[in-house]
Amino acid sequence: MPPKIRYPLLIPAVILSSLLCGPHAFGATPQPQEQAKKARFTVQSIADGVYAVIAARDGNTGFVVGDDGVAVIDTLTSSDAARELLTEIRKVTSMPVRFVVNTHYHLDHTGGNAVFAAEGATIVAHRNVRTWTRTENLKFFGPSPKPEQKAMVERIALPTLVYDDGIELFLGSRRLVVRHFPGHTGGDSIVVVPDGSHGGVVFCGDLLWKTHLPNLIDASTGLWIGTLAEFAIVYAGSTFVPGHGEVAETADVGVFRNYLVTLWEAVAKAQAAGKSGDALVDAVLPGLKEKYGEWGFFTNFAKSNILQAGEELSGKKRLPGSRRGSAP
Ligand SMILES: [Zn+2]
Repeated sequence: MPPKIRYPLLIPAVILSSLLCGPHAFGATPQPQEQAKKARFTVQSIADGVYAVIAARDGNTGFVVGDDGVAVIDTLTSSDAARELLTEIRKVTSMPVRFVVNTHYHLDHTGGNAVFAAEGATIVAHRNVRTWTRTENLKFFGPSPKPEQKAMVERIALPTLVYDDGIELFLGSRRLVVRHFPGHTGGDSIVVVPDGSHGGVVFCGDLLWKTHLPNLIDASTGLWIGTLAEFAIVYAGSTFVPGHGEVAETADVGVFRNYLVTLWEAVAKAQAAGKSGDALVDAVLPGLKEKYGEWGFFTNFAKSNILQAGEELSGKKRLPGSRRGSAP
């Protein structure tokens, strides 16, 4: 594969990176040869049979090896990337991949689903993931997606097992607890791998970002702050795998929650002083930069975070599904 291709062949990386995350997210555009030297992801063993897959330019994933099979949490952006992930899984075990859990519908977490569906895995997700995968993902290509971009989104394998609040999955005696929480899109879930000897592992998808600004395009920030407060209490002592950034611990959940609270309070204060649009950004950005300017994706998301928090606080935010029809 040519080294410059990090996304599905037909996706403009700049558009994706500005809306999801990606190789250009840190401001500089790496040259193809630089990209070629960097691994797409690193596989880290974080507990017995539990692996975090920390992506360089993609959504993080992970996998859990049980007694009679494997569960994969999220599938990267493309079939190429997912095949690479499958190769890594095969270095650990030859057992079948029984389940894929999509933590939410965004392309950088669902784009490789078809690879695992073809392996016989059941794709499991919150009901809204099935509803939104082939509709809401189109917005990441701008107002007029090209036919090949539409076709790519159409090819994403949809979840065939959906739930509203959660579900439990079993790999022999190994139990995975999947639970829906609000905040990031309205269709997000975490995957908990309980472990009696310590707090276990919590795959958070994009409900947690470690030292990276989040994508708030679909967010309900007020609800999200509550979700993170619950994580820090209910799953205290666990190892947390964020959707973006390195493997995290309980303190990191609080750090990320503080970012959302800081943003929310600063935007509310500026709005109370009559600011909106560019004036709102000008009022909030310097303080945000002082505290969080070193975080990943700051250049990509700071401005949109401010504007989207402003829309939410003034009750004008468009959320997924609010203008579209029912599930396919
Ligand atoms: Zn993501």
